[in-house]
Amino acid sequence: MLDEFVSLPRVAYFSMEVALRNEIPTYAGGLGVLAGDTLRSAADLQLPLVGVTLVSRAGYFRQGIDAAGRQVERPATWDPARWAQPLDAKVAVRIEDRPVWVSVWLYVIESHLGGRTPVLMLDTNLPENRVEDRDITHYLYGGDDAYRLKQEMVLGFGGVRILRALAFEISAYHMNEGHSALLGVELLRRFAYLADDLRPGDPPYDLPRVRDLCRFTTHTPVEAGHDRFSYDLVKQLLASSVYGYDDRKVPKPGELGTEHGPIDFSVLTALAGPDALNMTQLALACSDFVNGVAKRHAEVSARMYPGHQVRAITNGVHPYTWCVASFRAVYDRHVPGWHHEPELLVRVHGVADSEILEAHAEAKQALISRVKALTDVTLDPAVATFGFARRMTAYKRPEMLFTDIGRLKSIARRHPLQIVLAGKAHPHDQEGKQLIERLHEHARDLAGAIPVVFLPDYDLELALLMVSGTDVWLNTPLPPLEASGTSGMKAAFNGVPSLSVCDGWWVEGCIEGVTGWAVEDAGSLYGKLEGVVLPQFYATEDGRHAWVRIMKAVIAINAAYFNSHRMMRRYATEAYLR
Ligand SMILES: *Cc1c(COP(=O)(O)O)cnc(C)c1O
Repeated sequence: MLDEFVSLPRVAYFSMEVALRNEIPTYAGGLGVLAGDTLRSAADLQLPLVGVTLVSRAGYFRQGIDAAGRQVERPATWDPARWAQPLDAKVAVRIEDRPVWVSVWLYVIESHLGGRTPVLMLDTNLPENRVEDRDITHYLYGGDDAYRLKQEMVLGFGGVRILRALAFEISAYHMNEGHSALLGVELLRRFAYLADDLRPGDPPYDLPRVRDLCRFTTHTPVEAGHDRFSYDLVKQLLASSVYGYDDRKVPKPGELGTEHGPIDFSVLTALAGPDALNMTQLALACSDFVNGVAKRHAEVSARMYPGHQVRAITNGVHPYTWCVASFRAVYDRHVPGWHHEPELLVRVHGVADSEILEAHAEAKQALISRVKALTDVTLDPAVATFGFARRMTAYKRPEMLFTDIGRLKSIARRHPLQIVLAGKAHPHDQEGKQLIERLHEHARDLAGAIPVVFLPDYDLELALLMVSGTDVWLNTPLPPLEASGTSGMKAAFNGVPSLSVCDGWWVEGCIEGVTGWAVEDAGSLYGKLEGVVLPQFYATEDGRHAWVRIMKAVIAINAAYFNSHRMMRRYATEAYLR
């Protein structure tokens, strides 16, 4: 079953979350969608990658909204046997001095261009494990610190071991965010020097060799996005994997230099920080190649991590996945080869305006039908429709548009508009959950003036409906906290311009008045809406919708560039082939 995949060396791409398909809820937001797009592009381009993640049987969660506009969380359980094949391999990871067995599922991403990318999903739900260990790989971002550290041990230690057990030859390890940084510790153990090669005082590890093998992509400047574990917890859970903090724990002769041999505690603290095990710090210390996900984000990260060179590889989205059927058909007719070479979309200028407008009208109608089915609200296809959907968390500032309800109403009296919202808040993020409640209050305040709907359970399918069926994609994060943002790139593939705060990818993607518009705050947002965006949306030239010029520019300039094929060609040439 694996022969086709183990016949050549691969880059192991580790990610806590991966959005493989809508039926598999193993992602929480942009990080997982990016991981999925990365692996899908690898399949399209036939780049030799292998994904490594947790099976997350209980998924993230399904979101309902109650009558008061509050988020209700329901389990998102899925059955790996429905989509993946169990592989005949098992490895043990020692947690709290007992072995936790890890098995693995194989999911294969099949590109319509012929390539195939294997994804390994780690699973501790085995009869040989204690009951409390069976659910270590169940809940994506659920549980407390101890639960999270156990998951990260399974991902980092277990992932490296399972690759070896399955006879994968790994040319590089790519950590998508710091969750998998313990893989660096696993490699250090493997490359421990034999004791008689060492001079006294030398750390008994081949750190340069590990650094040579590892690449690290950091994804957020937001503090909560960086895991830190207390060393008390580390000592408790890693127990036998670490020595040097406890006189009784001295490695036995022959243990060093084996996969399961312990690591010196002082080396761990030197790499991961003196006060707590900082996974970002550990990933940085173990990697020769470090990058941020947009130019601005790389600069911000370089300031956060002095002493490290942080390069920029700006994110992109997967062309085929993020194009609605009606636009795929237009591109297939006029830009053959765009699946493989999205740069060709610069040629969209040669497509008749009517074809672009019809493709958009079809996408807009599909969204309107879904809105009707989900909320019983009837939106008007002729009215300018604004979309805002992303994880509901404070720095994304979903309320900016609703800062001044009176002003918004007065704008709508002259230029009608309607608004479609969606997004999940992490179950522990009280502030994020309150944002959802308040968005519902704003919708009630605007009733009769501006239709505002909140669609529950934002997922890949809803995302595609929204980024293609709205007319303008809105984003109002608090700079510099939006590392990249990707939904605006998805919108670009469907000819939808962005109205966004200049942060993340938009620093590179915004050409004012051509690909969209930049705003700073609520005042400039209202100013641009009223003075520029809405008048332009309703403008006609010779009886035609002048807006189509913007749609074409968005596709030719932004979809042609902000795609994951360009991103993966850069990872391949700059990060993997070093
Ligand atoms: C693309 C996507 C995201 C990330 O959107 P951002 O603009 O980066 O915040 C989150 N959730 C889903 C379901 C997505 O498709």
